[in-house]
Amino acid sequence: MKSSSESNAKSSLTNERLLRLERLSELVRSLDNAHELEPFLQNVISAAGELTDSEAASILEFDEQSNTLRFLAAPWHQFEPLRGIQVPLDKSAAGWVYRELKPLRIPDVKADARHFSEVDFALAFETRSLLAVPLIVGGKPLGVLEAVNKTSADYTEDDATILETLATTTALAIHNSSLQRRVEASMIELAELDRLKNDFIAITSHELRTPLGLILGHATFLRELLGQDYREQLDIIIRNASKLKEIIESLSNVDNYETGGARVRQRAVSMARIIEEVVASFSDMASKRNITLKAELGRDDLFIEADAGKISIALSNLVKNAIVFTDDGGHIFVSGESVPGYVKVSVIDDGIGIPPKDLPRIFERFYQVESHLTRRHGGMGLGLSVAKVMIEMHGGRIWAESAEGKGSNFSFLLPVNVTQVEAASNVFLP
Ligand code: ADP
Repeated sequence: MKSSSESNAKSSLTNERLLRLERLSELVRSLDNAHELEPFLQNVISAAGELTDSEAASILEFDEQSNTLRFLAAPWHQFEPLRGIQVPLDKSAAGWVYRELKPLRIPDVKADARHFSEVDFALAFETRSLLAVPLIVGGKPLGVLEAVNKTSADYTEDDATILETLATTTALAIHNSSLQRRVEASMIELAELDRLKNDFIAITSHELRTPLGLILGHATFLRELLGQDYREQLDIIIRNASKLKEIIESLSNVDNYETGGARVRQRAVSMARIIEEVVASFSDMASKRNITLKAELGRDDLFIEADAGKISIALSNLVKNAIVFTDDGGHIFVSGESVPGYVKVSVIDDGIGIPPKDLPRIFERFYQVESHLTRRHGGMGLGLSVAKVMIEMHGGRIWAESAEGKGSNFSFLLPVNVTQVEAASNVFLP
């Protein structure tokens, strides 16, 4: 039969283990909310000290530049003197753990040559016993978690298990934080690149406009002056210079909108009429390739308040694409209908379609499905971004649906009355 003092001792041991487990799992759970690394590491070292009954604990991280270990966390009153210390990989207990990827227990530090005494010297501290475990992520060591001076007896297997559990969580936290830092740095870099790209576009399109205007002006003048003699050559110059002008206009349209410089002149216009005009202007291009291009409209004039010129550019870009990306003999329908508060326009083709992976990106500036080096069609990947800008500056929305090899459906919604939309969006402002 067990004595009552024996069973009391057992139950207090079980209680103690339960408490330790509780503290451990609390810390592991707190990783989820660990937005800041430093307070989390402070939590880890105080838990490591408490749970292994040690005088102190610390975390060292490998530093690639110096090829040594450096203190990442230590009790706050010890941290300052430790900050600059470089712990060598080959002459320290922590270095041994880092290289061997194994835990290390040293009951009597004085009798072990691996101890790096500079740390004790800097802190005016005496390390008597030590337990250290590696911080590992994906099989690679990041650093070491160390506890020193067990206050009662020697470090046990249990202590090592506790420290290893803490080390796993700590390694993850350090790894996450370095990933987060890298993501943030890349975002800043991307934003800077985007700014440079925008500046480049704004400056280039502005600088190209004047010489191009002069080329067009003089070529037109010469065509008048020389009559039939050089007409063919001058027509080529004028046609190509006009194409360049269109590209520059597209670039500055997008740029103006993004920098807030775009202006919209709203008037009551008939969407049905715009659709008919755009369809008529592309009928030659379509019939040359035996493509059926039709407007599908009801009786409604589909009046909206809009800048007809800009809506016309948006719709023209969609219809032009539909012709370009549809095989000879294909079909394109442009429909317009009234939906509550809006007019909906769709351009539907049975052309080559768009792969699902590209679909979310086609409205981005310069985005093209085929590489511009190998593609058969011209264009700069600007048509859809211009269309998006034009529709969105009217408070509208544009989107695409497509099945590769079967065809595409580009649609946009425009509010019938812009002031109504503005009023509605004000109501929903937080
Ligand atoms: P681009 O003027 O170079 O064609 P866009 O911005 O107009 O540029 O279009 C971007 C890309 O989206 C095109 O290069 C093409 O790959 C794809 N695309 C646009 N419209 C269609 C369509 N109707 N059918 C298939 N692909 C399309």
